[in-house]
Amino acid sequence: MKVPTAKNTFDHSGELRRSRSSGPAKRPRFVVQKHDASTVHYDFRIEVGNVLKSWAVPKGPSTDPGKKRLMIPTEDHALEYADFEGVIPEGKYGAGTVLVWDCGCYRNITEKDGEIQPIDEALAAGHVLIQLFGKKLKGGYALQRTGSGADARWLLVKMDDQYADARRNPVSTEPKSVLTGRTIRQIATNADEDAAS
Ligand code: MN
Repeated sequence: MKVPTAKNTFDHSGELRRSRSSGPAKRPRFVVQKHDASTVHYDFRIEVGNVLKSWAVPKGPSTDPGKKRLMIPTEDHALEYADFEGVIPEGKYGAGTVLVWDCGCYRNITEKDGEIQPIDEALAAGHVLIQLFGKKLKGGYALQRTGSGADARWLLVKMDDQYADARRNPVSTEPKSVLTGRTIRQIATNADEDAAS
């Protein structure tokens, strides 16, 4: 993917000036939750309006612009779910262990006709560019829809910017929770101990 043009790159001082002049500008959030359910996958969620738009990413996000990661659209989740880490009991939707693998805020940088396209319109159009400000994931990512209707799938691709790194592979080298430092096994085990005590 192409790097955004200079006028669109994030500028810390510019952001600061804008937020001072227009009150507290709260950025929308993103979260990536590792989910050990019937299969291990990563749930990629971005705050849009009052919900978390959600996709399941079987292999998890990559920092390599050469890798396209399949994203399967899933149900919207409540905003509060972004902080959830723990065990969902058997018989409930999403049963399994959830670890907050990365979180932070994001910035919509999707352009149309030289302007930033609102995120809901970009999602409807099936092409979204966002910059992530996470602990593990940073910089631009492209979300591209392929197919349509019930067969719609999306691809998640790192944009080729200063945070692109073909060798980093954080899914395998940085497995722990950014909230608690725990592994998925430790989260599952703690829940067992809580239930026993
Ligand atoms: Mn899931």
